[in-house]
Amino acid sequence: MLEEIGDAPGLVFIQDYHLALVARFIKERRPDLQVALFWHIPWPNPEIFRVLPWRVEVLEGMLANDVVGFHIQRHASNFLEGVAETLEARVDFEHMAVDRAGRRTWVRPFAISVEADEIAALVESAPVRAAEKELRARLGLADCRVGLGVDRLDYTKGIPERLRALDRLFQKHPEWIGKFAFIQIGVPSRIELPQYRAVQAATRRWTERINARFPRAAGPTVHLIEANFDFRELLPYYRMADLCAVTSLHDGMNLVAKEYLAASPDLDGALVLSPFTGAARELGRAWIASPYDREGLADAYHEALSATPEARGERMAALRETVLRHNIFDWTLDVLDTIVGLSLRTAPEGAIAESKLVD
Ligand code: UDP
Repeated sequence: MLEEIGDAPGLVFIQDYHLALVARFIKERRPDLQVALFWHIPWPNPEIFRVLPWRVEVLEGMLANDVVGFHIQRHASNFLEGVAETLEARVDFEHMAVDRAGRRTWVRPFAISVEADEIAALVESAPVRAAEKELRARLGLADCRVGLGVDRLDYTKGIPERLRALDRLFQKHPEWIGKFAFIQIGVPSRIELPQYRAVQAATRRWTERINARFPRAAGPTVHLIEANFDFRELLPYYRMADLCAVTSLHDGMNLVAKEYLAASPDLDGALVLSPFTGAARELGRAWIASPYDREGLADAYHEALSATPEARGERMAALRETVLRHNIFDWTLDVLDTIVGLSLRTAPEGAIAESKLVD
């Protein structure tokens, strides 16, 4: 990469946690380059961060960046607090910056988004419409409302919790039996690790249980599709879904929630969203329900499905507007503008709190 840049001035934009230490190596060789890191997953609070044996190395690596970005303010604040507790550094909470070893790192929230206009156009295309029809016929979903989940089979995604609440929905509201089916796309993820295999097993168990207890004549009540689709292949599913359930236990942003909204131009849908996603900060008009609250989540499904088309449409319009107004290109511009803007600013006077050293 440095060979590619040559002697030219440049800006390096690093993506995600596996590259946490990269900025340090870049700055050692090219201190003149501007370097920014975007962290796509949540940042824990100091009580949790404290247990990490490599916390000093990780923070030192990250503070070699000029800008570190998170999805939401909470994660940015957690990061600043973690630095204050772990390193000898001056943490400026007001301006969200860290001064250490003669250099400054700015910390900022940037809510990532999706290619909303592109998705909206694609989902209206003839091939996607045809694929939706074909899917509906193949999965036996004619005259049936359809719910959708799209996730990696990851323990943070709350998939067993989602199905557990679906089971409760059918117990509490048997009128939905045979009238509501659920498609869960589960992308196999890090399957060599036992924690991920446990999520896969629990997802399969709940699927079997619901299908056995609440059968449907035209096909299974829960279709569990364990596959990794090309993004465009997901569009007919998004298009078909009357309800999309995003029930993460802890998530950075959750792009699926935003993709579903972008892919619902007819506004005939409903988003059931966990408050533990970054997306919930912007998408407050969704049906917000905690995955830890089986009863509340089952009620949210029922309310979303029972709402009048006008009520659903009004909420979807507001949600969709948020996604269309701030798409992935706006996010990129925000980040780049901020890097350039902040690099021109000098360290502000005052408002700098001396941090403590732990241990
Ligand atoms: N995705 C995909 N194929 C699939 C399932 C998901 O391309 O079979 C994509 C989905 O469109 C989304 C991403 O994977 O863009 C998942 O992003 P999200 O933020 O929801 O969760 P992550 O997996 O990054 O934790």
